[in-house]
Amino acid sequence: MATMKAVVVEETGGVDKLLYKDLPFPEAHEGTVVIKNHFIGINYIDTYHRTGLYPLPLPFVLGRESAGEVSAVGPDVKDFKVGDRVVYIGGSTYSEYTEAKVGAVEKITNDVSYETAAAIGIQALTAWTLVRESYPVKKGDHILIHAAAGGVGLLLCQMCRYLGATVIGTVSTAEKAALARENGADYVINYTTEDVVAKVNEITGGLGCQGVLDGVGKSTWDISLQCARRLGSVISFGNASGVVPPISIATLAQKNLKIMRPTLFNYMTSREESQKWWGEVFELLAKGVIKTHIYKIYDLADAKQSHIDIESRKTTGKLLLKP
Ligand code: NDP
Repeated sequence: MATMKAVVVEETGGVDKLLYKDLPFPEAHEGTVVIKNHFIGINYIDTYHRTGLYPLPLPFVLGRESAGEVSAVGPDVKDFKVGDRVVYIGGSTYSEYTEAKVGAVEKITNDVSYETAAAIGIQALTAWTLVRESYPVKKGDHILIHAAAGGVGLLLCQMCRYLGATVIGTVSTAEKAALARENGADYVINYTTEDVVAKVNEITGGLGCQGVLDGVGKSTWDISLQCARRLGSVISFGNASGVVPPISIATLAQKNLKIMRPTLFNYMTSREESQKWWGEVFELLAKGVIKTHIYKIYDLADAKQSHIDIESRKTTGKLLLKP
């Protein structure tokens, strides 16, 4: 039987649970295509799946996104043919080939490389839905973005600048501060050495921010609430430092705050929603509003090292795997 390489999780845990293995080639069925992956996007969520923070039925092939070409189509599939250039958001992408439901596959035009498509994917869609739906950013707003030099963070900086907001980013190093500035942050605070609340008050004349976008979680949550302006919105979209502890809803009454905990997948539940958000993100890319910043491309066989790197806070922007 012909086999392909894939990164499999048989039991959850540390990076040693990432197994580089031979698996049977996937086949296309009704409503699916098989994609030959050229580049695979790494997302922080992959670490949550590996550790079991977000449980998946075991065993599974890790990964949520890839870009590549269609290599086989299911018997009833009319919208795709072998050779189509596509990007995919779904499951089992840390592999040479992935069977994908057609509803989660999007064609890419010839001017978008596979590398770029895999690099914008989930992170740009997440960032754009955050600033259009979760908290619609307005011209003149002050927006606080945690982990501003990360994958989602850099794109949020670019998008908030485009929307006319004053961007305040938090980061852990001077190098990350410089990168966040280059990508649209007007102010950058090192949240490992500086008093973020005092700095935000200084910048905003004591008023705080209309929108706070927090993908760091446990270590920043209290800071996020303190940095929000009266009537402001605090959007919690991730847990890079750990899960946000339970809060008493009454604390929100101190400033009439709104809080929200969105996921990208609940903004893209239908073909129509998916096409709308992909369409807008590709337009931002074509206009030069968003640019990819690729930290490193790892061999698929080195997926373990990519997880060590992203979890150790040394990466910036996007990490990719190449089968
Ligand atoms: P990043 O590239 O942003 O990596 C995480 C960053 O978080 C690090 O670089 C680091 O930046 C910061 N960080 C702060 N504390 C810690 C810690 N204790 N351990 C590790 N990192 C820490 O990853 P992504 O762009 O892929 O994702 C960013 C966040 O967005 C994640 O929480 C992810 O789960 C979330 N997300 C949510 C989605 C949704 O649908 N809700 C979809 C996509 C992503 P620094 O060194 O500057 O502190």
